[in-house]
Amino acid sequence: MKRAAVIHRSPRALRHNLALARSLAPGRHVWTVIKADAYGHGMEWAAGVLEDVADGLSVSCLEEARALRDVGIGAPILVLQGPRSAAEWRLCASHDLQPVLHEEAQLPGLEALREPLPGLWIKLDTGMHRLGFVPLKAQSLYAQLHRHPAARNGLHWMTHLACADQPEHPQNAVQLEAFSHAVAELPGKRSFANSAAVVSGLASATKLGEWLRPGIMLYGASPLDGENGPERGLRPAMTVTAPLIALKSLEPGASVGYGATWTAERPTRAGVVAIGYADGYPRHAPSGTPVRVHGRECPLIGRVSMDMLEIDLTGVPEARVGDSVTLWGQGLPVARIARAAGTISYELLTRVAERLRVAES
Ligand SMILES: *Cc1c(COP(=O)(O)O)cnc(C)c1O
Repeated sequence: MKRAAVIHRSPRALRHNLALARSLAPGRHVWTVIKADAYGHGMEWAAGVLEDVADGLSVSCLEEARALRDVGIGAPILVLQGPRSAAEWRLCASHDLQPVLHEEAQLPGLEALREPLPGLWIKLDTGMHRLGFVPLKAQSLYAQLHRHPAARNGLHWMTHLACADQPEHPQNAVQLEAFSHAVAELPGKRSFANSAAVVSGLASATKLGEWLRPGIMLYGASPLDGENGPERGLRPAMTVTAPLIALKSLEPGASVGYGATWTAERPTRAGVVAIGYADGYPRHAPSGTPVRVHGRECPLIGRVSMDMLEIDLTGVPEARVGDSVTLWGQGLPVARIARAAGTISYELLTRVAERLRVAES
């Protein structure tokens, strides 16, 4: 059962944003990050759109990588969380996956592997303190693994920045220095740049990362604090719309929705839109959060309900039941809605519910 609300996906926007990433860090290779169902856009859809134009696809876990192989995706695949058992290491070899080694506990399974991997990435923890080995271990891991059959096609190096979305943050330089120092004498490819590092210029400012790993920018949202995306030339790959299902006239003093948190101060034309928090619209979006109707912005009024929300349509007198309302996307960057709701674009995009219908645009 599908709802009347629609996710419009734009393959052209996705490819345009990848081309933009390439232009911001020329000469690099790109792992396009399509984990978390391609940030809510549909992993198989994104893989199909990007396969021919990306250098590879990147997912979080083996389940995702396997699903891509099962539908015939042949592109190189980087698995960010890597295998957790000998069987999973074998699965990487048999499915032609490039796993990430980031933790001691993964080593026995890797040691037992006899088949070559298409590539093995070692993650160093240079300051994020999430996944990765201490940089001091790079040399000894190399010594231990570079002759191992699994590493026959190459041992590569990656790290992840904690503060790339704040390009001036001193931790960026500290982490890049630690990474550079740790791998200076070692062969292999290097990768550190997420979208924020690409957009801010951190990636192009150093020779250190031949492989980029952009995610959010591919979908059209800016990764940088306080930005939306369009000002960087990014185009939204997802637009969410839902129909107006009721109109009503409110007298001054009339309140709207659960908790009666919003009250009309003047005669108001209100509209009810068929989308709510069960569809992935953020419940914390306050009154005043914009939606778009007939090319104009209108404010949300009252609390978001499970399957509905209400808007002030006084400024759009031509609006009728059945008209389409844009919640975010084309003409209304998801980052603005995220900021209003006290979250980030990533969360809104990844939470869009499967019960919405999907259309190409
Ligand atoms: C998710 C992820 C990325 C992509 O991050 P964006 O901010 O979406 O560009 C890159 N590298 C790693 C390790 C990740 O987990």
